[in-house]
Amino acid sequence: MDVENRIKELVDILNKYSKAYYIDNSPLVSDVEYDRLYKELEDLEKKYPEYVMEDSPTKTVGIKHNNKIKTITHEIPMYSLENSYSIEDIKEFYTRLYKLFGLNPEVTVEVKMDGAALSVTYDNGRLQQIVTRGDGKSGEDITNTAVIKNLPKKISYKGRLILRGEVIMPKVVFKQLNKIRGEMGQPLFANPRNAASGSLKLINIKEASSRELEMYIYGTAYCDEEFITHTASLDFCKENNLPVSQYLYVCSSISEVEQALKTIEDMRFSLPYDIDGAVIKVNNKDYQEEAGWTAKFPRWAIAYKYKAQQVSTKLLDVIFQVGRTGAVTPVAVLEPVQISGTTVSRASLHNEDEVKRLNIMTGDTVFIEKGGEIIPKVVSVQEKLRSDNAKEIVFPDKCPICNSLLEISEDDAKRRCKNTECPALVQGSIIHFASRDAMDIKGLGEKVVEELYNAHLINNYADIYELNVSQLENREGWGEVSAINLINAVNDSKNIPFERVIFALGLRHVGAVAAKLIAEHFKSMDNLMNASFNDLEQVKGVGEETAKSVLSSLNDKNIQEIIARLKSYGLQMEYVSSATGSSLKGSTFLITGTLDKPRKYYEDLIVQNGGTLLSGVSKNLNYLIAGEKAGSKLEKAKKLEVKVISQNEFLNMINR
Ligand SMILES: [Zn+2]
Repeated sequence: MDVENRIKELVDILNKYSKAYYIDNSPLVSDVEYDRLYKELEDLEKKYPEYVMEDSPTKTVGIKHNNKIKTITHEIPMYSLENSYSIEDIKEFYTRLYKLFGLNPEVTVEVKMDGAALSVTYDNGRLQQIVTRGDGKSGEDITNTAVIKNLPKKISYKGRLILRGEVIMPKVVFKQLNKIRGEMGQPLFANPRNAASGSLKLINIKEASSRELEMYIYGTAYCDEEFITHTASLDFCKENNLPVSQYLYVCSSISEVEQALKTIEDMRFSLPYDIDGAVIKVNNKDYQEEAGWTAKFPRWAIAYKYKAQQVSTKLLDVIFQVGRTGAVTPVAVLEPVQISGTTVSRASLHNEDEVKRLNIMTGDTVFIEKGGEIIPKVVSVQEKLRSDNAKEIVFPDKCPICNSLLEISEDDAKRRCKNTECPALVQGSIIHFASRDAMDIKGLGEKVVEELYNAHLINNYADIYELNVSQLENREGWGEVSAINLINAVNDSKNIPFERVIFALGLRHVGAVAAKLIAEHFKSMDNLMNASFNDLEQVKGVGEETAKSVLSSLNDKNIQEIIARLKSYGLQMEYVSSATGSSLKGSTFLITGTLDKPRKYYEDLIVQNGGTLLSGVSKNLNYLIAGEKAGSKLEKAKKLEVKVISQNEFLNMINR
């Protein structure tokens, strides 16, 4: 056989073997045999580069049908957890539960691995789907690219099962990977977490498997079987040979919780993977439901984050940044230093009071730490090491951007630029307006806003809607496609709901939550513009300070003009309730037992049709929807003479 044909044969065989091994989970040959053939191919390719085939497993592109990654909606949203940084928070959390249930609830304390959260679905005994967390509502389908060493392709359980877990890269694998990348002149990964996420979408299967990713299940989001406790659901996973972390402690008092937190903290740095804290969960599933959820978090779980690692370095300089609210923030410029696997060269100094409190001078040796925030902070100064060359930090009287005089506000000790035309404020407000949680205009990030502002194409966020393709397509770095994409994204933003339009305006003290409350209360921009201070104070969840700031902003002629323009471009200026019907208005519901679809599906239907969900059986409950294996709630409902209906009776109520 000639060389060319042998290469072809090897490529075919190896691709077949790797598909069998990684996708079908039924290896056709031993690893040794595979590696021998792979080596033969590699050697031949080196000697005869002219015969290297496009689909060779030695090249980055492996199996072709794998290279498109879709975004899909999570059947059950992936919640994040409330974070706490002190044991006091944990005590409060536990006390809250105690008051709610009238007893010391059993909770679990588990290690919180520092990786990427994934949702994994099994059906009929087979691994069906792996999806990233994404924004919690939808994530990326990485079923075909993710190679996770310890995740079985088949399990003995034949029902439907949706699992949640964390994918991690072990510390030794991370070190070795970065070593090799360094030698090859490739960019290094900042930490094992980034390396793990980055490895989930690799197309080359051999490369992906060399990353040796591991996954640990921390919960079942859906299972045809119902579990009484969280630990029972994890035991069920173990019985099915699914990987579950061995570090879980069941506690029935706050002192036991504290002990478990301490135990985990003590072993923190000796574990084979990074952890950043512990997670505490109510063990009993009925109790979990009774505690319920906020818009963002389950109320029955909390994450406890361990103190960040502290590192010392030198303060080289302090620069002053102007944010979109005009606040001037001192930023420490540091001698670059490694902390928790990341190189840090900037840190926040918050405000003048903080600088005074730290008694910090340029040239000082300082301790920095990276806590829950993305930006590290300076925590202390080693005054004993101060040199004679150390210089005092002087705050500017004038805006470093526009040179106008700064005002010092009493509430947060910050100097503010009050010049509404200051480029820093204007650009900041446009960037905020276009950001993901506001108008979500893709392609209009910091750099582009700066460019278009400097070119006088946009001077405020209303100007975005006057942009056109011909202004953009001939600019350096642009083309017809990127210009059209941006204009399309701008037009798409006209469908963004009213509450996010309010948030996008960037009024001081009006975050996403307050914006939603204001939108729900006033229903339209016209009503909001006519609101008095008293009207604003009436909004549930909006305080005096927010009411004042909204009022003064809306009385500003410039803002009024901008809002009028936004209205003329067709942005959403009226509140549309996410409820689509009102047939269940005034009725309260609770679900128990197993239904044919995940509980969340029925809960969404109830809310969409104007019904209200209750967290427990009481006299206020109108309907209990009972599925199979309904337990104590059904009993209680019968006792209280609450109407019990089946899932079909419920569907009839909303004409489904
Ligand atoms: Zn300024």
